[in-house]
Amino acid sequence: MPVAPEPLTGEVFDSHCHLDIMVGNRQASSGDPVAQAAQAAGASVEKIVEESRAVGVTRLVTIGYDLASSRWNADVARVHRDVYAGVAIHPNEAHAATSEVLAEIEELAGEPQVRAVGETGLDYYRDWASKDDQHASFRAHIEIAKRTGKALVIHDREAHDDVLRVLAEQGAPDAVVFHSYSGDAEMAKKCAEAGYFMSFSGPVTYKNAGYLREAAQVAPKELLLVETDAPYLPPVPHRGKPNAPYLIPLIVRCLAEVKGMEAGELTAAISANGEAVFGAW
Ligand SMILES: [Zn+2]
Repeated sequence: MPVAPEPLTGEVFDSHCHLDIMVGNRQASSGDPVAQAAQAAGASVEKIVEESRAVGVTRLVTIGYDLASSRWNADVARVHRDVYAGVAIHPNEAHAATSEVLAEIEELAGEPQVRAVGETGLDYYRDWASKDDQHASFRAHIEIAKRTGKALVIHDREAHDDVLRVLAEQGAPDAVVFHSYSGDAEMAKKCAEAGYFMSFSGPVTYKNAGYLREAAQVAPKELLLVETDAPYLPPVPHRGKPNAPYLIPLIVRCLAEVKGMEAGELTAAISANGEAVFGAW
């Protein structure tokens, strides 16, 4: 595992991680070396929470991607005070989003420690689920978020225009988060106009991702969030290793530099945004 960075002076939270994959509750899908490495490190939820807290990352939102993962994350959030959950069927699994499954997702979404419906959205990079299934599942999750009053956490991979269009057509919930924001500055303007939150992850630190730093410059600080997507997408200088929520300070410092802000000022803004999106902690 990567060494811990210098702690932040203020408190901040990780808006998107996958604790179940990190602790090996779920078999990493075959050929997924990052998840396998994370699981080999033998982490527990307690250890992850403790290591995060030690660097100023005091809250985590652990995100579901299928029914089993959503149930597990909701259970963990029920017993860990500073862990909150998101529940949904991932667009790559959209073929599994039957009405029975969606009914259970909605039931879980109603629980108080579950603060988000996600991750849902559209993924045109992978064709594991058909576009028809992905669109139907995305629209159903938007409605669940509206009925339960929870934030909508969006996975948008190479599908920017369609994600924005479906949100506009369906009517967006009050709080919308683009998880691991991957658009350019032009799209960030559109998100800002619509009041959508942009959650920046490890790639904003990558040398070849100037477009993400341009997007971060455009994104108003009132709409900024940070996340790891752990165990995936580790920030520089830890590419190739498993990611963990305790690496959030590296993303915060990169974003602060891009925004020309003090890290403390940025963490305060992000923490306030977190409560606006996910509710009072
Ligand atoms: Zn994720």
